[in-house]
Amino acid sequence: MIEVRNLVKKYGTHLAVDHLDFKIESGRIYGFLGPNGAGKSTTMNIMTGYLGATEGEVLIDGQDILKEPEEAKKHIGYLPEQPPLYVDMTVREYLEFVAELKGIARAKREEEITEIEKMVKIWEVENRLIKNLSKGYRQRVGLAQAILGFPEIIILDEPSVGLDPKQIIEIRDLIRKLAKKHTVILSSHILAEVREVCDYILIISKGKLVASDTPENLEKMLGENNAIEIETGASPSEVRLILKNVPGIEAIQTQINGEGMTWAKITEKKGEDARERVFMAFAAAKTPLLTLKTTGTTLEDVFMELTQSDTVPEAFISKTKWEEVGRDAGDL
Ligand code: ADP
Ligand code: MG
Repeated sequence: MIEVRNLVKKYGTHLAVDHLDFKIESGRIYGFLGPNGAGKSTTMNIMTGYLGATEGEVLIDGQDILKEPEEAKKHIGYLPEQPPLYVDMTVREYLEFVAELKGIARAKREEEITEIEKMVKIWEVENRLIKNLSKGYRQRVGLAQAILGFPEIIILDEPSVGLDPKQIIEIRDLIRKLAKKHTVILSSHILAEVREVCDYILIISKGKLVASDTPENLEKMLGENNAIEIETGASPSEVRLILKNVPGIEAIQTQINGEGMTWAKITEKKGEDARERVFMAFAAAKTPLLTLKTTGTTLEDVFMELTQSDTVPEAFISKTKWEEVGRDAGDL
């Protein structure tokens, strides 16, 4: 449905989007996840035809958006980071204006605007001037203009920024509802948000796609390395000495905690369970362990590792196997 090929965007000499390649299939909720400055908005602005690319292609149902932006734009509703609201209009006036721009038939306009106003819960404020609305309501008006015309693809750039927790939950519910009939792509720098609503996550760091998979698979990929956390009265160097000859250990991190105890995270080699050996090693050294517990890898760890380190684990780069995940596999 959308295919991004070798997309590059340079601002002067700054490489904001660095050879992105991915496909978006219909009927799912995709999340662009990455820290601020990763290139999410730039990518979305190009995908929606609002910004030119330095290199590469964006195909929407086979049409090149960079060559035929007007045609391709008909398939897309977009909520940019700064929604283009006309603040001196009322909500209704503004949505009527947008409906006209989108070429929605006059006969259908009134009904459709009312339907969408009710859907995003702005119906009660339709006669208020946009400039008098709170941030939360303005965001919903932005969302309404994206949904108008019910385009196949709805792209939302950081849809929950500036909203309070109750509004965030409402927006998430709305996104899920939209996804029943539309393909939704949203961006966020917040992992929890993307995990909560998206079927598929594309992690972007410094303009590069560093991982793309379902939330479950992303967790699994790094999840094979488990770790053991311990606390003991021994010093960090004593801890390392005790563990020196214990098999199955990949790495040890130590730290003195607030109570003057040593806290250590012992990462096990893939497939190893070293808990008993660790316990016995401390017992043999007559050094009591005050805590011993296992910790798995969370998606948070995956995200931090991928977006903070300069080197991306090789395993992640080649994991984009679209044919395995697409509900519509084979349709492309
Ligand atoms: P994100 O949305 O992930 O926070 P952006 O796409 O906004 O990231 O920005 C990516 C990078 O490009 C950042 O380093 C940002 O400073 C830079 N950038 C974005 N827009 C412009 C612009 N108009 N001119 C110059 N640099 C820009
Ligand atoms: Mg952004």
